[in-house]
Amino acid sequence: MMQYQCYYCKYKFKSSKTPVKCPYCEKTGTITRLKSANELVDEVSREDREDIREV
Ligand SMILES: [Zn+2]
Repeated sequence: MMQYQCYYCKYKFKSSKTPVKCPYCEKTGTITRLKSANELVDEVSREDREDIREV
């Protein structure tokens, strides 16, 4: 299960796959996946910073 949040209404929920629309406000395309603690640790320890460069 991954944790997701709707950036429109800030509703947080868990799902096994990325939902198309927010189950709360029913907006589409507003769902972002929240990072798990393990993923955050991976990002901090990663040497390659190319992918976080702002465009
Ligand atoms: Zn929402």
